[in-house]
Amino acid sequence: MEKWLEAAQEYDRKDTIQKYRQEFYLGENIHYMDGNSLGLMSRRAEQSVLDVLNDWKTLAIEGWTGGERPWFYMSEEIGGYMASLINADKENVLATNSTTTNIHQTVRTLYQPTESRNKILVDELNFPSDIYAVQAVLDDHGNPDSMLKAKSRDGHTLKTEDIIGLMDESVALILLPAVLYRSGQVLDMEKLTEAAHEKGIIIGFDLCHSIGAIPHHLEEWDVDFAVWCTYKHLNGGPGSVAGLYVHPRHHHLGVSLKGWFGNDKESQFDMNHEFDAAADISQYQIGTPHILSMAPLLGALSLFNEAGMDEIRNKSLNLTDFMLEILDAEFKEYDMEVVTPRGHEERGGHILIGHKHAAGINAALKAKGVIPDFRAPSYVRIAPVALYNTFEDVYHTMKILKEIMETKEYEDFDNKRGVIA
Ligand SMILES: *Cc1c(COP(=O)(O)O)cnc(C)c1O
Repeated sequence: MEKWLEAAQEYDRKDTIQKYRQEFYLGENIHYMDGNSLGLMSRRAEQSVLDVLNDWKTLAIEGWTGGERPWFYMSEEIGGYMASLINADKENVLATNSTTTNIHQTVRTLYQPTESRNKILVDELNFPSDIYAVQAVLDDHGNPDSMLKAKSRDGHTLKTEDIIGLMDESVALILLPAVLYRSGQVLDMEKLTEAAHEKGIIIGFDLCHSIGAIPHHLEEWDVDFAVWCTYKHLNGGPGSVAGLYVHPRHHHLGVSLKGWFGNDKESQFDMNHEFDAAADISQYQIGTPHILSMAPLLGALSLFNEAGMDEIRNKSLNLTDFMLEILDAEFKEYDMEVVTPRGHEERGGHILIGHKHAAGINAALKAKGVIPDFRAPSYVRIAPVALYNTFEDVYHTMKILKEIMETKEYEDFDNKRGVIA
């Protein structure tokens, strides 16, 4: 294993964005490899929370329109900072609600079924919350059986042509992940969008595992809508407010979940009982914004805009390339399966490894200071994050993993998942 240490140190020396690591609270003797579940806290995120708390302390009600960062406009302000991550106009991006609420909101608004076109196309590998929300919308429309699921051939990945094969005149809307949360596969959003539009279908993506990890060109690709959370790669902290993009061609549709913060700001405080929808993306807000859960994003996002998504993606791929190289060379005898696609276009920011003792391996790694996560029934997910992980972190993670495989230490741990995996 030693030769990999030298290689790691060499890569770290050449790393052009390494200075951002010192912005984070890393934990002593910890190799944090779970930034795709909960990103680490940065000093800037901490500071922006303290600043917002101070505004509350000193301005009280005046904080809504006073101070440096008036709360009344914070959803739009943070939307603006996220726009560059997806290459969209900031008028079309918003920080609001949770991802799940945003799926209810966007899908409910954009799903306009007719007698013959009433299906929603999803995939069988998607995150449960997305599926629950889509099913709820279909149920409310009296179309409970109209969910169409693209199947996986190998249980881990999806084929673009299989998804496109299901796009016909009966499909009204499509919701797919940009990066699959388990295998880490990146879907070809551009091609899928083009194919959907050829069939007159509205298409949106869940960017939970892709935003902050890979660049997106949503407007160039002409995607209809997107939703994402901000506590994974974007490091917004537990439960931080989610993001939303809707193409302006749909802004004339009345949003489904209406509330006073979706009203035009000029007339909001007229307190009329007639909803006067904001003309832009602001209409997708519902109630009072969760200011304290947005505050960390003010600091956290500035790191992305400084480092730049292309640099971040480049380092991320180098990190996972390095990990795959070690896995290929050093783990042949342990019956491990690397599930994540190899090609750069198809690989997101994390690697999924299968082994029948995965839960025990995950627990053994944690006991030795490596923090990955476990996904049932038998997978460990490892995410080296470009902004704060080093190549040496990858080296140590692999070295410790190899020790665990060699000594079978995983047998000392229960091979089952914890409450939160
Ligand atoms: C993390 C994640 C969610 C979480 O949704 P919340 O509403 O933030 O709890 C939803 N969908 C996908 C694909 C995710 O990865």
